Amino acid sequence: MSQSTDAIVQTLKAKGLRVTPQRFAVYANLLSRNDHPTVEQLLVDLNQYCPVSSQATIYSSLQALRAAGLIREVLLEAGVSRYDAIVGPHHHFHCQQCGTIEDIGWDELPVVKFDRLRAGLKAQTYEITVRGYCDRCSQADSE
Ligand SMILES: [Zn+2]
Ligand SMILES: [Zn+2]
Repeated sequence: MSQSTDAIVQTLKAKGLRVTPQRFAVYANLLSRNDHPTVEQLLVDLNQYCPVSSQATIYSSLQALRAAGLIREVLLEAGVSRYDAIVGPHHHFHCQQCGTIEDIGWDELPVVKFDRLRAGLKAQTYEITVRGYCDRCSQADSE
């Protein structure tokens, strides 16, 4: 789902964000991948094109993009923030061996009903994290 430079600039502007080279690079990078990278992974990737990036500048771009609702933080492991340019509701599959994270479409899992939730608790949103082994890791296992 890679978007044209123009479309990305328009999206940033529509959210009221000043278009800086860093914000553009971070957002374009996230849109071009779906592996939910960490700040460190983004830094490695972005430095191939734009060697002035530091972790701090990437982090501040991520904060701005997140505040604008263009990306979101995905926390599947304690203390590890990953970033996702798909902000619509979806679930995740998390491989316990290699750490790979894959999106699971919202419609691919049954919808959870909250009618048995204790009175007084009002559910607003939820997401499911399926933990297991990805194709590569489950193959390695059975060899
Ligand atoms: Zn795996
Ligand atoms: Zn995701």
